[in-house]
Amino acid sequence: MDTATRTAQTATAAQASECLDVLVIGAGFAGIGMGFELKRAGHRFVILEQAEEIGGTWRDNTYPGCACDTESHHYSYSFAPNPDWTRRFAPQPEILAYLKKVAADFGLLEHIRLGEATERLSYDAEKGLWSAQTSGGRRFEARFVAAAVGQLNHPSEPVISGLDSFSGAHFHSAKWDHEYDFRGKKVAVIGSGASAIQLIPPLAEAAARLTVFQRSPNWIVPKNDREFSKLEKHLFRRLPLWARLYRYWIYWSWESSWPEFLTESRTARRRTAEIVKDIARRVAPASLRSAMTPDYPLGCKRILLADNFYPAMQRDNVTLAEAPIDHIDRSAIVTADGVRHEVDCIVMATGFKSHDFLKGLEVRGREDQEIHATWNGTPEAYLGISVPGFPNFFLLYGPNTNLGHNSIIFMIECQAHYISRLISEAMTRNAKSLEVTPRAMTDFYRELERDMARTAWVGGCSSWYKNAEGRVINNWSSHTLKYWWRTRRPNLEDYVIDGAAPDGIMEYSNG
Ligand code: NAP
Repeated sequence: MDTATRTAQTATAAQASECLDVLVIGAGFAGIGMGFELKRAGHRFVILEQAEEIGGTWRDNTYPGCACDTESHHYSYSFAPNPDWTRRFAPQPEILAYLKKVAADFGLLEHIRLGEATERLSYDAEKGLWSAQTSGGRRFEARFVAAAVGQLNHPSEPVISGLDSFSGAHFHSAKWDHEYDFRGKKVAVIGSGASAIQLIPPLAEAAARLTVFQRSPNWIVPKNDREFSKLEKHLFRRLPLWARLYRYWIYWSWESSWPEFLTESRTARRRTAEIVKDIARRVAPASLRSAMTPDYPLGCKRILLADNFYPAMQRDNVTLAEAPIDHIDRSAIVTADGVRHEVDCIVMATGFKSHDFLKGLEVRGREDQEIHATWNGTPEAYLGISVPGFPNFFLLYGPNTNLGHNSIIFMIECQAHYISRLISEAMTRNAKSLEVTPRAMTDFYRELERDMARTAWVGGCSSWYKNAEGRVINNWSSHTLKYWWRTRRPNLEDYVIDGAAPDGIMEYSNG
């Protein structure tokens, strides 16, 4: 397309504006789940997806070994059970295919606009309308916005001195180079978190040498992954009630592990001792075992599940480098102890910018204030969903809604259901706006902080759950049952509907 045509199309698109009930931003698990609820409630909506394909994190992460670490019969929507999961913990291609099938089966594809990266959202308080501007110059108008852009979608690529001079290949785990042939190569993996422990075993098999640069070890428990037999899949298909019961059983068995995440609980102490014993059984020699045993409370960082990671680390061609990385030169990673680790390729399994909620999105609320300025480095949202000053605007998988012990799909479904009910309530009343009160927000965070103080999240470790000030901004502070209870139906007293503010309102501040 020539420049003149593109300019003309962009200008036309900029004038075009669709007025909708709801605009959903993002077509990953949260966006598709939101779409299902909106469709069920009969709302007019569009889902804007910046990429050319749906799938969110399951589209972006394609590294070898990428799989779910929550059981698939529970890492799926309650409204779309899948009897065909091949394993207890499905691999990434299967999860992505599942998500696409759900979108197709529930008639959501027609609502999705691919390649539409939302750059700016602004609220017109007079009209009670949100306006979205996309990078392609298109504009959408909607009464409500649900942002479903995820927490783990912006790779964190550390700035390491000398990386520019490295002559080999280097890439992040979420931007996998499938052209790169690891066979016979000397490979470095930086990081030993959830992604690293999945990609290390296949890389260890392919590469001539693999060096793992671990900054801190993780608590790792057996995954006990296995294929489902033909009979099991047959039963899942033929006896939906049995499949449902199996799902409930998974939910409750994971949910019952919540006390492990409470500091000083007897369960946490007992579980820690069990895992230490398990490491002793599975890891040798003693030096490797001690290097791979954390010294911080269980659950402080995400507890990882793996069957093949410890065996991979004990292969002859695999080395654990514990000393911090000092710099990188043309052909090696040099650690602070002066050792040069010659490598051909560096894989950064260094995680995501998990604190930058709504990264790359400018969101202007009732008084034209920008949401990131409001948050001032500490993103907060009532139930992880609503923010004072931002009427008719909702987040899915927002601040303080991540989990360490259960399926995030459960939380997403609670949120989608709650948001849809709020929208229906406002529309039934023909209300112009619906905004959470500062008092509800303050009370919510008072309780959340009280619960949080008892959890392992606040313990003495660095994790992607905490912001620069050490506040846990990603995780929910309790069991999921509590979250379900709080979101099963909106408490309308927590909202100002149609701008009629209750008496005694106080200003919200997270400073
Ligand atoms: P991560 O858990 O944050 O791990 C990043 C790793 O890189 C950590 O070992 C970290 O060390 C290390 N690191 C970061 N910066 C470094 C630097 N400058 N120098 C040396 N090491 C550095 O990230 P992730 O493994 O991508 O996983 C993130 C989250 O994604 C998980 O917790 C999970 O929720 C999700 N995930 C899920 C699955 C799944 O199966 N469902 C799979 C993969 C990921 P420190 O620990 O010392 O900071």
